[in-house]
Amino acid sequence: MAGRWAGSVEGMEIHDRPGGAADAGAFPLTPEGFRSGFVALIGRPNVGKSTLLNQLMGQKVAITSPVAQTTRNRLRAILTTPTAQLVLLDTPGIHKPHHLLGERLVQSARGAIGEVDVVLLLVDGSEPAGRGDDYIVELLRQARAPVHLALNKHDLVDPERAEALMGSYRELLAGRGDFATPQQRPPLTWPLHPVSALTGAGTDALVEALAAELPLGPHLYPADAVSDQPEQLLLAELIREQVLHHTREEVPHSVAVSIDRIVDDGPRTAVLATVMVERSSQKGILIGKGGAMLKTIGSGARAQMQKVFEGPVYLELFVKVVPNWRRNPARLAELGYRGDG
Ligand code: GDP
Ligand code: MG
Repeated sequence: MAGRWAGSVEGMEIHDRPGGAADAGAFPLTPEGFRSGFVALIGRPNVGKSTLLNQLMGQKVAITSPVAQTTRNRLRAILTTPTAQLVLLDTPGIHKPHHLLGERLVQSARGAIGEVDVVLLLVDGSEPAGRGDDYIVELLRQARAPVHLALNKHDLVDPERAEALMGSYRELLAGRGDFATPQQRPPLTWPLHPVSALTGAGTDALVEALAAELPLGPHLYPADAVSDQPEQLLLAELIREQVLHHTREEVPHSVAVSIDRIVDDGPRTAVLATVMVERSSQKGILIGKGGAMLKTIGSGARAQMQKVFEGPVYLELFVKVVPNWRRNPARLAELGYRGDG
């Protein structure tokens, strides 16, 4: 593997870990009628994209948070069933861009639409369709791939409200009622799927419907692959998730995490990471009184990492002030936010 190196710090063996899960595992013989392809997961922030990915995969591959816009990177999860393999792209929420980082997010989401076999548009189905949904539907109208609409958070819907809510999404697609326009857009016939990403209700049927849209083809990844994202990215996301859970508005969106080193010390894995913030006041908040906040963040992230490594983890966090990292294209590229979609 390119870039592998070895050395020793404080008596511990150091090496690059193989990044992709696609390195390991076997490609089984393709069963008759097997389908494989790419699924773009599109939706506004907070509709439950990450929760759905985690539900489908049965393990943690994306971070979830009550704070909007926490998913910055496209994350591929690989879902293999006995009859199909779905490669899922978790795209950041489409929304009106506010600054450079926001623009990159939208470009990345738009890019994902162009290169997939089927698009899954996820909405918060516990609320009636609104203007923000209309914006995305208009954007997806241009997609070459078929689109399926999943109405998520169905567990929050009273049975007597279910039909009215569903009706509002039918009107959205048909361009009727609140969504009628003078220019008479052609009605859309995208299939609707009520689901709960949280409980898993309806998700088997959803996967089956998506798989049916894929072309016949062999496994694209080994049957036991979970994600082709480097391990570093998942670890960084686990740290950022804890920051989001434990700090208030002035910090979360100013935070980026880089994993500096993963040190494999026999049974224990040591992870050294840097948390970047934009201002020294934010650094103060992150560290907290006597380091209490950083300790809370660290132990939360460590607990999650121990599940990933299935063993003990030692985590060391550094906090660094990098003024205006969000407005700095070189910094963004370094952190993996590609501008070319
Ligand atoms: P994303 O921004 O689209 O990735 O949304 P997340 O997956 O981070 O979810 C946002 C919030 O909605 C979290 O608090 C989730 O727990 C919650 N959520 C997601 N799916 C469901 C669901 O099916 N039912 C309920 N009740 N809550 C959900
Ligand atoms: Mg997310």
